[in-house]
Amino acid sequence: MGSLDGKTALVTGGSRGIGRGIAERLGRDGARVAVHYGTNEAAAKETVAAIEEAGGSAFAIGQELGVPGDAAALWEAFDQLADGVDILVNNAGVGYPIPFGEVPEEAYDRFFAVNAKAPFFVTQLGLTRLRDGGRVVNISSGLARAAMMPETLTYAMTKGALDVLTRNLSKLLGPRGITVNSVAPGVIDTDINAGWLRDNDDAWAATAAMSPLGRVGEASDIADVVGFLASSDGRWITGQWLDATGGVIA
Ligand code: NAP
Repeated sequence: MGSLDGKTALVTGGSRGIGRGIAERLGRDGARVAVHYGTNEAAAKETVAAIEEAGGSAFAIGQELGVPGDAAALWEAFDQLADGVDILVNNAGVGYPIPFGEVPEEAYDRFFAVNAKAPFFVTQLGLTRLRDGGRVVNISSGLARAAMMPETLTYAMTKGALDVLTRNLSKLLGPRGITVNSVAPGVIDTDINAGWLRDNDDAWAATAAMSPLGRVGEASDIADVVGFLASSDGRWITGQWLDATGGVIA
């Protein structure tokens, strides 16, 4: 018997990285999980299979985010396979460092379209599907609070916008018993950091040393925070920014 038995969850970007960790955790807790992906259907199918192998229930839905009509198309795909949602996790995101003086308008627009605009409209259009007493969790970043890597400014700004969405939606959705929170990871060992950070041994070691716990985070470190918020134990927390940076910001 899981704490989320009978609930349905949608995790955007649930196919890989942090989203996969969240999808697997919610699946283990008993939720039926919609594992969303953008382009990598194979990864989504792998995540669905992993949830099912662990005794859970899941299905994959694909939809590119950050393009016109993305949220409506995502929910249309969702509606074919499920009837309402209890836990919405806006996790899909993109970003990489670009020096301030070199940020092209295209990258600025793309980061905002995927990281801020898509969660806005996915949640807006999800309101008719989201059941009372539900949960919205937005995956933010420690960089929205601390200017530790100024070359990630554009990305950090998108997460700041997401946090504003969190705070305001908590007021708007509270009367329906729906909690809305941001969870802010520090650096987590996922593909988003491949190339520019993870493949540089010195930079990776320095990143681990930023946490008093002495390591880089794992997807499960974030998934467990989301699992707590999604459970009934998280019922009294709303409108908050939960630091999940492993103490990098303290
Ligand atoms: P990741 O490993 O690169 O995975 C990204 C996920 O989002 C994939 O499932 C991907 O699906 C999906 N996605 C990306 N762009 C998309 C788009 N335009 N349309 C639809 N789906 C899209 O990233 P991650 O590290 O797990 O990051 C997850 C979230 O945590 C992001 O919001 C990120 O900003 C945040 N975060 C990450 C870290 C970190 O260090 N990893 C730190 C702080 C915050 P496809 O593969 O199919 O495109």
